[in-house]
Amino acid sequence: MLDVSDLTTHYGTSQALFGMNFSLGTGEVATLLGRNGMGKTTTINSIMGIVKASGGSIVFDGEELVGRPSFRTANLGLGLVPEGRQIFPNLSARENLVATASNHLNQPDPWTIDRVFALFPELESRASSMGNLLSGGEQQMLAIGRALMTNPKLLILDEATEGLAPLIRQKIWSALADIRATGLSILVVDKNLHDLMRLADRHFIVQRGEVVWSGTSAELQADQTARETWLGL
Ligand code: ATP
Repeated sequence: MLDVSDLTTHYGTSQALFGMNFSLGTGEVATLLGRNGMGKTTTINSIMGIVKASGGSIVFDGEELVGRPSFRTANLGLGLVPEGRQIFPNLSARENLVATASNHLNQPDPWTIDRVFALFPELESRASSMGNLLSGGEQQMLAIGRALMTNPKLLILDEATEGLAPLIRQKIWSALADIRATGLSILVVDKNLHDLMRLADRHFIVQRGEVVWSGTSAELQADQTARETWLGL
C-alpha cells in the first residue's frame, strides 16, 4: 500500500530527511514516533506532496509519488488530518464535510455525512456551527471527518490528539479503532504512546530524518532501551 524508500527532503539547503525507509500494508495501522523536530511531519508532508522530496521513492498503491505535482496526488486516495486541523473557519461543520466529499461510486461503503455523524455524534448537533466556533475536540473530529469524506485508501493523522482534553482524546482513539475496523490503512503521529500501542500494528521510530527502529507494539513494549533512547520515556 505504501512503500517509502531512501526518502530525502530538504528545506532550502537544510536537510530534514536523510533516507527514510518504511512500509505499510493494506489494512495496517502504523505510527511514526520520535521526539520533536525529528522529521515526522516532514515525512507526512512529503508523502502528501505538500513539501517536495529531493530524492528516494514513495510508492502508494502502485504509483510513484516523488516527482509528481501535488495536485496530481489529490485523487489517489490519501486522506490527511493535518497538524493544527486547518478546517475552514467560515464554513459550517456540515459545509466543511461537503467541501471535501468525493464521489466514489465504485466503493461498496463510501463515507457520507451521515456516516461521519454516526462516528462522531457530537458533530451532528454542531452541524450548522461555523468552523471557528467549534471546540478543539469538535474541530479535530471535523478534520477526521473531512479526510474520511475524500474516501481515502490511507488515512494519515499528524498529531491526532494534540491539545485535547483526556475525555476527547479517548473519543478520538475510539473512533480511530472503529475506522481501523473498517479495514482502512492508517498512518498516525501522536505523543500518547500507550494509546498508539493499543491502536497500531507497527511502529517506526524516527531520529534525525531516519527510521532507527521498527517493530510491533509487543516488541516496543518489551524494548525499554528503545523507548528510553529514542523516545525519552
Ligand atoms: P514536531 O513533532 O515538532 O512537529 P517532527 O518530528 O514532525 O517534529 P519536523 O517538523 O518534520 O519534525 O521537522 C524536521 C526538521 O525539519 C527539523 O529540524 C525542523 O526544524 C525542520 N523544518 C521543519 N519544517 C521546516 C520548514 N518549513 N522550514 C525549514 N525547516 C523546517
